[in-house]
Amino acid sequence: MHSGPSMGRVKDTKTALVTGANKGIGFAIAQGLGALGFRVAVGARDDVRRKDAVERLRARGIDAFGVALDVTSDDSVAEAAATIERLDVLVNNAGIGGRTDAGAQDPTTLDLDVVRTVLDTNVFGVVRVTNAMLPLLRQATSPRIVNVSSNMGSLALRTGPIMAAYAPSKSMLNSITVQYARAFDGTNVIVNACCPGYVATDFTGFASPRTPEQGAAIALRLATLPDDGPRGGFFDDEGVIAW
Ligand code: NDP
Repeated sequence: MHSGPSMGRVKDTKTALVTGANKGIGFAIAQGLGALGFRVAVGARDDVRRKDAVERLRARGIDAFGVALDVTSDDSVAEAAATIERLDVLVNNAGIGGRTDAGAQDPTTLDLDVVRTVLDTNVFGVVRVTNAMLPLLRQATSPRIVNVSSNMGSLALRTGPIMAAYAPSKSMLNSITVQYARAFDGTNVIVNACCPGYVATDFTGFASPRTPEQGAAIALRLATLPDDGPRGGFFDDEGVIAW
């Protein structure tokens, strides 16, 4: 007899991990992946915020579970990897802007502690999480990695406010994305970077009409690329972004 969904989770349900999924664009990506049928691991560092996000996703019919994850902690990342059984998609979304007070991100008065802090989350965090999850991803049929970057990291566009810690962190994230893509050449692991656009979240003080769901769309596209899809690129809704 056919065993339908009521018999429990189907064996081939794909699992996706989204870092920083408790709010903003990460939450919208988690919700979007859930709506596409993924089982979603909600990576978040705060217990209360993570539990709340998982409950909100489940209330919308999404198969979500929480994973304690601080991307700046090797131990936290290792423990997270140990709790996940299967992984098809990794979305490295967690990111910070860093302090901007007192010229902290004016290049002429740059506070290097702010640079270190921002790099630790936006770049080293991505490397920590990606490398810890790679053994799981390599077991998947069509593994996809999406790095949520920013067009502020584009050296060609020179867009957005001057933020001499944040913008270079995204430039470096883009460069690391290309390094990973080259390392994955000839394998089934596909990695790309994206810019969600200027989105209403805590990060931007909600100073934009663009919704987190709109911002999540490009990450969802890259998370579900076919096997012959692009590798090591930088995309937004309109297409390729100039490096
Ligand atoms: P939010 O500030 O709303 O959300 C950021 C998320 O990252 C939160 O869940 C936060 O968790 C999490 N996070 C931060 N540090 C860590 C950490 N050490 N470990 C785990 N999680 C962490 O920002 P957005 O949703 O706007 O941004 C998401 C991504 O999109 C970022 O990478 C950002 O750079 C990028 N982006 C955003 C744009 C925008 O216009 N909003 C434009 C371009 C790029 P917590 O709640 O615990 O702080």
